[in-house]
Order: sequence, then structure tokens, then C-alpha cells
Amino acid sequence: MRPPPSGETRVAGVIGDPVRHSLSPALHNAAFAELRLDWTYVAFEVPVGRGGEAVAAMAVLGIEGLSVTMPHKRDAAEACDELSPAAALLGAVNCVRRDGDRIIGENTDGAGLLRSLRIQAGVDPAGLHAVVLGAGGAARAVIVALAAEGASVTVVNRSPEAAERAAALGASAGAAAAGASGAPVGTATVGGPRAVRDADVVVNATPLGMTRGDPLPIDPALVRDGQIVVDLIYRPERTPLLEAAAQAGATTLNGTGMLLYQAAEQFSMWTGHDAPVDAMAAAVGLDIAG
Ligand code: NAP
Repeated sequence: MRPPPSGETRVAGVIGDPVRHSLSPALHNAAFAELRLDWTYVAFEVPVGRGGEAVAAMAVLGIEGLSVTMPHKRDAAEACDELSPAAALLGAVNCVRRDGDRIIGENTDGAGLLRSLRIQAGVDPAGLHAVVLGAGGAARAVIVALAAEGASVTVVNRSPEAAERAAALGASAGAAAAGASGAPVGTATVGGPRAVRDADVVVNATPLGMTRGDPLPIDPALVRDGQIVVDLIYRPERTPLLEAAAQAGATTLNGTGMLLYQAAEQFSMWTGHDAPVDAMAAAVGLDIAG
């Protein structure tokens, strides 16, 4: 048992609305307990339109870090003194850290997916062809991260305008990272579902599969042996897409890895420690092995 908070306890938290369902307090408090850090993490229910005020209050209250969830990701970005390249490109912040009085906005979703691919599937996306299904907030973070790592990304989405906007972000990220490490230049373009046939990695970033009876996001006949199929959904742990992909001989990953590793990135930014990912997963009843 950890002792109760004292005057020395350092505070982090999550802002959102709604926020009471958030897994973040359980994840981060488990990590603090595992490493015996005198920190605590709480949920702040912040009304829509007031996310910027909450971020600005960090400096005066001495709050060390905030996770940011809907509907505050854009307002938080505007309230920060400085943004990471990913947060600036996406115009969305899911993590805020404090450096003295300066408030810095980050977006750890893409880094979470990259860590999940590397650690759980042994995949480096540089030079690979990735198809991302969807063009919403999660998809855009994934597209930007994959393109920045040197993947060629095809965006497949229901509404073509959103697909074009997401692909443009990915193309910017690929161009901005070009030459940084000698890796191939990442690209992002819009395509149709048939692009899945030639993909090395397929990422479902639509909500299709969360609810029983949902249609599959693509025809499963397009998936083949040797591909890596990631579904960002983590509940249920095995979506129909992942079942079909496993039957086709693909390697499958659910969204548990991305969820945990994006939180782990936040934990490390705030505390300077590597996050105890297994303890975090156990705290929320998720299996990191997927
Ligand atoms: P979002 O911003 O609302 O975007 C949803 C995307 O899915 C949009 O591109 C939308 O297409 C598409 N879509 C929605 N319903 C569809 C349907 N019936 N048929 C075809 N396309 C449909 O949502 P989000 O925040 O990006 O979240 C997407 C998924 O990722 C959710 O399942 C969420 O739980 C998951 N997620 C997981 C993690 C993690 O850490 N594992 C993190 C974030 C999100 P249009 O553009 O045409 O509307």
C-alpha cells in the first residue's frame, strides 16, 4: 500500500469531459505504486471550452503533467507555450508537460503505435507499405508517425475529404523527416480498400468492430499471410477483423499496446523513469500480449 498523499506528493492527471470512465488514473497510479514514486494521478472533469484554462493552471498549481482527452485536444494545443513536431502538425495535444513555467504539448498516440509495432511484432516501418483505415484523430496520429518513420502510407476512408486532409498531414511529416536519419522518405496518399492486398501493415483506425454486429472495415479476403494487421480497438480484445486476419495467416495486434505505450511515453516524460508497462496493463485487466 502506498501512503496517502502528503504535502510533498507530485500531481498529474487527465482532463476530459466525460472523464470518469478513463483508464488513465488506474494506469498511471499503478505505475507510480510499482516504482514507489510519491506521485498521484487524478481525473479532472473540465467542461467543453475550458481546456485551455486547465492547461494554463498547471504552472500556477505546479501540476507536473496532464493527459488530455476529448473534447480538449485542440484547446490544449492552443494553450501551450511550445508544441512537439507531431502535436504541431496534428493541431492536437494528448499530453502536457511542465518545464518550470513553460507548458509543452505533446502527442504520444503515434509513438505508442510505433512502440507497439516494434516491441510486440518486431516491425520497423521504414520502407514498408502501410494502409490506414480511417482518417479521424487516431488515424491521423498513426499516419503522421508511420510516414515520419519512412513508411509509404495509403489512407482508406469513408469520406474522401477527410482522407485527403489526413494524407496531406502524413506527406508533410514524411517530407519533414526526410534525410533526418538516412531512412526512406515517408509518403502518404489516398487509396481504396484494394491497397490492402499489397500492404505490409494494415491498421484499422475506425470504430468498426467495437460493437457486436458491426460490419468489418474491409473485405477480409484482401488480407493475406505475412501481413501485420493492427486493430486500434482494445475492447473487445479480438475484433472480427483480427479473427479473420489470424485465419488468413497474418500477425495480429489489438489496440492494447498502443494504449499502454502512449501512456508509458507520457509517464516517462513526466517522471524521467521507464514505465512499468506490465504493471500498468495488469491494473486495467488488459493483456499486453494481446
Ligand atoms: P474519430 O476521430 O471519430 O474517427 C473515426 C474514423 O472512423 C473516421 O475516419 C470515420 O470516417 C471512420 N468511421 C466511423 N464510422 C465508420 C463507419 N461506420 N464506416 C466506415 N468508417 C467509419 O475516432 P478516433 O478517435 O480516431 O478513434 C477511432 C478508433 O480508434 C476507435 O475505435 C477508438 O477506440 C480507437 N482508438 C484507440 C486508441 C488506442 O490507444 N488503442 C487511441 C485512440 C483511438 P469519416 O471520416 O468518413 O467520418
